[in-house]
Amino acid sequence: MRSPVPDYLHQILDECGGDNSGETADYIPELAAADPEVLGICISTVDGVRYEAGDAETEVSIQSISKPFAYALAIAQHGLEHVLDRVGVEPSGEAFNELSLERDSGRPLNPMINAGALTTHALIGDTGASADERFELVRQGMSAFAGRELQVDEKVYDSELRTAYRNEAIANMLRSYDVIGQEPHDVVAGYTRQCSLLVTARDLAAMAATFANGGVQPITGERVIERDVVRQVLSVMMTCGMYDAAGDWMSTIGFPAKSGVSGGILGVLPGQVGIATVSPRLDAHGNSVRGVRLCSRMSRDMGMHIMEAPEPARAVVRRDRTLRGPSGQLVRVVSLQGAIQFSGAERVLRALEGSLGDVDRLVLDLRRVASLNNVAERMLAEAVRRAQHDGIDVTVLDPEKRLPDPDEGQPVPEYSDDLSDFADHERV
Ligand code: GLU
Repeated sequence: MRSPVPDYLHQILDECGGDNSGETADYIPELAAADPEVLGICISTVDGVRYEAGDAETEVSIQSISKPFAYALAIAQHGLEHVLDRVGVEPSGEAFNELSLERDSGRPLNPMINAGALTTHALIGDTGASADERFELVRQGMSAFAGRELQVDEKVYDSELRTAYRNEAIANMLRSYDVIGQEPHDVVAGYTRQCSLLVTARDLAAMAATFANGGVQPITGERVIERDVVRQVLSVMMTCGMYDAAGDWMSTIGFPAKSGVSGGILGVLPGQVGIATVSPRLDAHGNSVRGVRLCSRMSRDMGMHIMEAPEPARAVVRRDRTLRGPSGQLVRVVSLQGAIQFSGAERVLRALEGSLGDVDRLVLDLRRVASLNNVAERMLAEAVRRAQHDGIDVTVLDPEKRLPDPDEGQPVPEYSDDLSDFADHERV
């Protein structure tokens, strides 16, 4: 069987590709000259399978899509607190290149606007690092996300730096308020090189999938960034990632994303996929017209809005039976199933609460449980502890040893789901 996923991507590319509205970015001469017809899409699963259609291997400069990665590298180097002291996390609602600082704190509002991105770029490397050393750290860090060595488009770099009057102004503002300590021009040059790194939709999908995968690059298997840093970065992408259309994007499309003026959009569906589109013509907010259409289409067709309330999880209590043994002892056998998180564990606790009074033995069968998250694990372990405290003999059937074993050292008893092990017991 051929997977229908690539066919679906070709289909939506055909459907959205006809929209020729929008303009390529014109404030960077080299981008104004980009081929406006380029159109590529790629999605990467968290286990590293990439599906693509169109110009998924055409290189474009990464531009602002580099910002979440530089932010991640700055947090990884200094810790969140240090970075938060210097760059805020509030959506600005202003243009990405506004000369602005947060009123009380004097910090740039967030790392997705240029003031914040210049500051995060300046944070990378030792205080005494040269501009080249700093850039090299950024390049290596971003290459680890992509799973290949990224290189600079020198033409785009020269073209942008020659006309970077606004970014020079922002960097001078940052220097004058002591937000950055380096020479403003060096920071602008390094940041501009960061924005000029060449990527394809394939690269962007892999970079997005690294975030979706909690920081582990799905193809190389390398842990590129810690999980808690990923959470921070995705939260800021969610609220500030799509220029001044972030609220509109969130409500209609609904997954964290970052766009860039060269026409790329990178989206992340945590735990599931990384998404990338490339198409250079931009709308009035600076987001790729066809990229937004493609993402909106995928979000709708594939239920990707992260605020969509999931269907109530399948009952986690698969069976709950009470048996009476030959000598009158009562055995409660509770079999669980599926992926158990807080709400599932709460249902189990609710089923047990107040109903174990006469029970002599509790058998908690976890053999069909697909996954237990950390909170569910702790809640069930606590239920076991409390039942034991009430004098109940507890057996957990948990061959994968996800709960601390209450009968440590005891082999998991033989037990079959048809209760043949309790053949001499009666259903109560
Ligand atoms: N290098 C560009 C700038 O700083 C990036 C802008 C963007 O992609 O939003 O102006």
